[in-house]
Amino acid sequence: MARSKQAIELQRSLFSFSTGDIPPCHDRPGLNGYRRLCYTCAYAERDGNILFCRRHVMVISVRDKYGLKEWKALREQILDRDKRRCRLCGAGKYLHIHHRDGDRTNDAQENLVTLCESCHRRVHTHLAHIPEIPAGQDDDSAP
Ligand SMILES: [Zn+2]
Ligand SMILES: [Zn+2]
Repeated sequence: MARSKQAIELQRSLFSFSTGDIPPCHDRPGLNGYRRLCYTCAYAERDGNILFCRRHVMVISVRDKYGLKEWKALREQILDRDKRRCRLCGAGKYLHIHHRDGDRTNDAQENLVTLCESCHRRVHTHLAHIPEIPAGQDDDSAP
């Protein structure tokens, strides 16, 4: 389905490319927009919360992803799937998308969950013990 295809295109796995290809930035990493291309590049290696460019030997900030229109589209899909409600408290305002496994490079739909700002903060600061965010009723399209 279109939903899952979009998520895959946002972050392809390293092995879906052959290295030796010209990178999407055409070896001009100084140009504006380079970091956007990194998310589809064979030379960008995932390591926990960071992407590392093996070709230019530099770290690519995950934060740059949040400006991508592909991310915004995926974010909308997750909000729709979760009925625009926090999956912990049901609030409908100030919604964030949280990466369940803590890996912000892992944009698989089952890893993404809608949380309100305050629940999100609690999840990250462990002020509240939250054993598990309940899984949604969604995901007939997930592999
Ligand atoms: Zn909440
Ligand atoms: Zn989070």
